[in-house]
Amino acid sequence: MNAEINPSTLKITDVRFADIDGAPKRCTLIKVFTNQGIVGYGEVRDASSRTYAAMLKSRILGENPCNVEKIFRRIKQFGGDSRQAGGVCGLEVAMWDIAGKAWGVPVWQLLGGKFRDRIRCYCDTDSEGGGRDMGKALKERMARGFTFLKMDLGIELLMDVPGALSAPLGFLEKMREYKKTVFSTPHGSIDLRAMRGEAYDLFNTAHPFTGIHITEKGLDHLEQYMADVRAEIGYEVPLAIDHLGHIPLEDCIKLAKRLEKYNLAWMEDPVPWQLTNQYVRLANATTTPIGTGEDMYLKESFKPLLESGALAVIHPDILTAGGILETKKIGDLAEEHGVQMSIHMAESPIACLAAVHVAAATRNFMALELHSVDVPWWGDLVNPALRYDGGYISVPDAPGLGIESLNEELIAKNLHPDFPEAWAPTTEWDKEWANDRQWS
Ligand SMILES: [Mg+2]
Repeated sequence: MNAEINPSTLKITDVRFADIDGAPKRCTLIKVFTNQGIVGYGEVRDASSRTYAAMLKSRILGENPCNVEKIFRRIKQFGGDSRQAGGVCGLEVAMWDIAGKAWGVPVWQLLGGKFRDRIRCYCDTDSEGGGRDMGKALKERMARGFTFLKMDLGIELLMDVPGALSAPLGFLEKMREYKKTVFSTPHGSIDLRAMRGEAYDLFNTAHPFTGIHITEKGLDHLEQYMADVRAEIGYEVPLAIDHLGHIPLEDCIKLAKRLEKYNLAWMEDPVPWQLTNQYVRLANATTTPIGTGEDMYLKESFKPLLESGALAVIHPDILTAGGILETKKIGDLAEEHGVQMSIHMAESPIACLAAVHVAAATRNFMALELHSVDVPWWGDLVNPALRYDGGYISVPDAPGLGIESLNEELIAKNLHPDFPEAWAPTTEWDKEWANDRQWS
């Protein structure tokens, strides 16, 4: 422990942000400053808004950041599902970073110690073309040392296959049109056309309400794609699938049954996680393992699904689930129900390291997602640089998250054009106030 630091008298003095883009999504990085020189690093969930964190600044100024649970319980009411939880979780991560630095121990030690010294990673893989092409792209990941794989398999692959999908006439044409125009911009960038109007409505229609169905021809096509992938990569390596598309439960059942013989690690987010009964129906209809979790906030969201017995896997995102300690609690709850935990992660190395500490300290952890293996500078955003040689990340022993400093030059180079100044003052949030009490 640093002799000049007195954890008992630490106080939060400021909160500031830097928004970067291209990593590959928009990432809002957080610095929490203290009265003793320690700076804690956090991050808002990918493709979210810094406002979710900024509005909490006045509620934590002057608090001792080492009292992580106390601060979390004060601000947790301002989190919500998916990106809406990004502010609460990002600040929680920064508190742990400060607490670890103040007491001189890594975060995993504060969570009860570690089960493992290195964290298995998997990466999402994109590929143009057919199943053989995807198989080759996945094989390249294996050659880099990855021992666990994930790819997309869903209606996106069928959009240009005649007779593969049915939907109210005109609906798919609209989807294709908006895909080409509005959603051709990089992930995470802010596009006014995607923020409002018909495109917003179209892409925010939940699975049961789109009216999209996969035909037998479409199912044949997806099954052949999967067969071609397995022909390339073999059957030994675990393979998860994601982004089925917004199709109703009955189509998920048909697809899941077709894919049983391809031995999937899990089928991800087949329908919205809120629909517990639909998850039960799906799990009862197939032996393909079912997973969900990246849009779920707090342990209480996970409880009904875990108790239902429908899940084989949960994949919380630290920056949505409730931060470091809440995700550890969620993992422990999943373990009680015989469910494995992987971790979703599509943000910067700050979020990745937060996930590494949880993964180290949670017994039923399986694999951590990396979303940026095709972004060469991603790991250099922090010092020391974050590496995943051989498909694993070593669990750091340095205090806090294990980040000495941020690479300010690299951050400056990749700032989001709408937020051209990194770490600008945030005094406009100092007096944000409402009566937060939720009862009278
Ligand atoms: Mg996913």
